[in-house]
Amino acid sequence: MSVIKISASALLLATLSQASQANDISLVNSTWKYNKQSAYALQHDDYCGGTQDSIHNIAVPELKKRGLTASFGVIARSCWPDLWDKAKQYVDDGFTLYNHSMRHTPAFKPTWESKTFRDDWKNELDIGKANERIKAKTGYTPTLMAMPYDIGSDESYKYVREHPELIAMRAPVENNGVWAGNQGINDKDFYNGYKLKVSLFYDWSPYWKLGKKKRLGAFLQDVISQQGFGVQYFHGINDDSYFAVSKTEYLRLLDKLKQASDTDLVWVSDAGEIVNYRYAREYCTLTLEKSDAQQQRFSIQGTVTQTQLCSQVNRELTAMGDVEQKVVAVEQGGEALAFVQQDGKIQFEYQTDKGDITLLF
Ligand SMILES: [Zn+2]
Repeated sequence: MSVIKISASALLLATLSQASQANDISLVNSTWKYNKQSAYALQHDDYCGGTQDSIHNIAVPELKKRGLTASFGVIARSCWPDLWDKAKQYVDDGFTLYNHSMRHTPAFKPTWESKTFRDDWKNELDIGKANERIKAKTGYTPTLMAMPYDIGSDESYKYVREHPELIAMRAPVENNGVWAGNQGINDKDFYNGYKLKVSLFYDWSPYWKLGKKKRLGAFLQDVISQQGFGVQYFHGINDDSYFAVSKTEYLRLLDKLKQASDTDLVWVSDAGEIVNYRYAREYCTLTLEKSDAQQQRFSIQGTVTQTQLCSQVNRELTAMGDVEQKVVAVEQGGEALAFVQQDGKIQFEYQTDKGDITLLF
């Protein structure tokens, strides 16, 4: 009798402890931030080179109205004080800037130029000093280089890659005087942030023939369905800049973009930010350190570059995982993190440099 009793309570204890023992959770970084389906960056070239008025009067107010962001390519030598002040204001409002050179001269003789054309490009001036000037005038450090006319050379490519602040570049349409082509969508695991494919608004775009009503939205739709990263860039709106987009067409795109962003189909952000995210999400991992009935603790490990550990670089990533038990709190470095738990899945944003993450049950 007593033997049976012991066995029964031992069995009950075993059952109880199994029920309260949490299954080990595995957390992974989502492909794009907020677990959205794709990533997208909107750009306007030639700020201070002719497009600034439509950026002030149309792009900025219409983007703000929809809670969207975009980036403006600055020709650093052409700006005057009022344009610097406005650029600084845009940065304060959440927009970003990129380096579109000091003088807007091609880095190599374009194939459409005559034999007598001599390029006057200087890496130090047109890339290095231009970045310094934009930084000094606006407080914003550009992380993306957009070569004038998307004309590249091996030398300028090497210079950008070795520049410590520049982490991204648009791919060249011509490199060293040879057609390279740069239209397209970047795969979610694109391997070279210095050769980003783009969609430029001009008549060589593969979308152009779809006509005014469809061409802009069609590129966005392809980005979403391929779950990739799209860079779409324009010059001005309703002005006399290079292939200026009509206001009607532009606003239709912004409406589509807002709708896609609101329904988690696309993460709209700065191209450099997206490049950063893409590498950090691959190279930083959440490793389970401790697991018991009350909590599971994860550390952040990995190396973003050869010299930078994930835990030393300030990046925000989105983590996800399958979790059956009810989570009452998610903490990082003692601070509570906002999280969503539904349908057996948890999702939250965390910082790579703020210490271990703990899920409390
Ligand atoms: Zn330009």
